[in-house]
Parts: sequence; structure tokens; C-alpha cells
Amino acid sequence: MAEIINGKELAKSIRLELKEEVEKLNEKGIFPKLAVIMVGNDKASKVYVRNKSKACEEIGIWYEEILLDETTTMEKLLEIIENLNIRKDIHGILLQSPIPKHLDISKAFNKICPEKDVDGFNPINVGKLVIGEDSFVSCTPYGVIKMLERYNIEIEGKNAVIIGRSNIVGKPLIQCLLKKNATVTVCHSKTKNIADITKKADILIVALGKAKFVTKDMVKAGAVVIDVGINRNELGKLEGDVDFEEVAKVASYITPVPGGVGPMTIAMLMNNVVKACKYQN
Ligand code: NAP
Repeated sequence: MAEIINGKELAKSIRLELKEEVEKLNEKGIFPKLAVIMVGNDKASKVYVRNKSKACEEIGIWYEEILLDETTTMEKLLEIIENLNIRKDIHGILLQSPIPKHLDISKAFNKICPEKDVDGFNPINVGKLVIGEDSFVSCTPYGVIKMLERYNIEIEGKNAVIIGRSNIVGKPLIQCLLKKNATVTVCHSKTKNIADITKKADILIVALGKAKFVTKDMVKAGAVVIDVGINRNELGKLEGDVDFEEVAKVASYITPVPGGVGPMTIAMLMNNVVKACKYQN
């Protein structure tokens, strides 16, 4: 039976470490601050934003929420980002996605100055990650790597398979795993015979957004299985992309949903805000 990777506990200990770091910064008169911009009324986004503000409060990171109307123009959004870029008291800027369709999210991410881009979505940070320079790494992939590290799971020389190639999860994960000397294979919606590929994985990371997609017969005995997926079933309960009960019987390590990658994502955002603040000071 697999050991369960407890993302909730791990994230809690990371938040405690960050709280101590923030206290040390405060003693020097430095107060890390995150600005979160939300456009429109997306229900799920509201929950995510609330969780981020709670984490900031717990750690002692100052927090400013900028709530914009659904009809906000691109010009206005860029102007708001520019003001936050200039402000000395703001160290991290986050634009909560999704944003209304009439707005160009890439243009908005490009506008956030790379030094304050705590989500790691600005192309400068993405490029730095690719060439192996220090950068802000997108919080979910960063959280996955931190999990593996903290559980002393060896990455070097392992066959790592990722299902999903999104800009926020799959693609940055490729670079993070390469940096750790894994041999990386990426599957996506056009991949043929996925099970043949996943069965060769020592580390299998699943991020496609389809409940219970990965079944026991797709996993090698002793593999480490990281489930990034978040799906809601007909009863409103959260489910991952992995059939947890069955896959746990063959894997060596597995993450649950909820309580796995999710809490790590927020912890790494907090980590990035503290990093940004230190960098700017
Ligand atoms: P996304 O942008 O929708 O990307 C999904 C990826 O999965 C795409 O690359 C797609 O391939 C691939 N895919 C879709 N169906 C597939 C199939 N049948 N076989 C193989 N690959 C398939 O999703 P995302 O934003 O990366 O998110 C993925 C999941 O992670 C979602 O459940 C999301 O809610 C969750 N998530 C969790 C966290 C967290 O903090 N835990 C953070 C972010 C996302 P193509 O490229 O070919 O279309």
C-alpha cells in the first residue's frame, strides 16, 4: 500500500517557516505585501482568492485585493497593473484567472513586472526557467517539486511522465524535472496508447482535469503518483485525476485530493511573495 504524501501538513510546515522569515524581515522594517487583482465574479476564483488572503494573514504577509467590474477595459487593467508595478510597498502581483473573455490575459501577464510576478506567468520568468536561471516558478509545479524533495523522493535518473501540457502546470513541470535530471515524457490529448507510456513511469504526474482518468492498470508497481487534478463529482465532492483507492494499492507514494497538491500551491505562492520581497530589498 502506498505512503500518502500529506500536502496539507507539508504546506502547514512551509507556512510556519515562512512566518518566521517574515518576522525577521519585519524586525528590519520590511513588510512583504501581495496585491491580488480579480476581474468579475467567478465563484471558484472567489474561493481561491479567499484562501490566498487567509494564508497571507496567517504568515503575516500584507494583502491588498483589487476587485474590478466585469466590464473593466484592457486599458484600465493595464493601468492598474502599471501602478502596482511602480508602488514600492507592493512586492508581488497576482492576476486571478479566469478573467472576462474580452480581456487579453497574456497581455496582462506580460505587463506584470518580472520581479513582482509571483505566479511565474510572465514570459521573462518562463524563459528563465527554460534556460535554468533563477526565476519565479509557477506555484503548482513548484509545489509538486517541493513535495518530492521534502519526502526525499529521488528524481535524478528517474523516468518522469507528465499527463497534461498546460502553460501553468505541465510545461513548467517539464523544465523543473529536467533541472532535477529526470528523463521526462509528456502526454496530452493526442498521445496514443497512454497506458504504455505511464506504465514505464517511476514518477507519474497527472494534470489533465478528468476524474479518475489514471487507473491501477496504468501504473507501474512502486511508482510515485502525484495527482494535480481537481474535479467536482455529481455530489459536489472533490476528486483527483487518479483513481486513488485502486492506484494506492500499487504505487509507493501517492497524493490525495483534496489535501495533496492544492495546499502546496498556495504555500509556494507565499514562498514566492517572500522571495520577491527579499529580492526587492
Ligand atoms: P488544462 O489547461 O485544461 O490542460 C489540460 C491538459 O490535459 C492539456 O494539455 C490536454 O491536452 C491534456 N488532456 C486533456 N484530455 C486528455 C486526455 N484524454 N489524455 C491525455 N491528456 C489530456 O488544465 P490545467 O490548467 O493544466 O489543469 C489540469 C488539472 O489540474 C485540472 O483539474 C485543474 O483543476 C487542476 N489544477 C490544480 C491545481 C492545484 O493547485 N492543485 C492548479 C492548477 C490546476 P492538449 O494540450 O492536447 O489539449
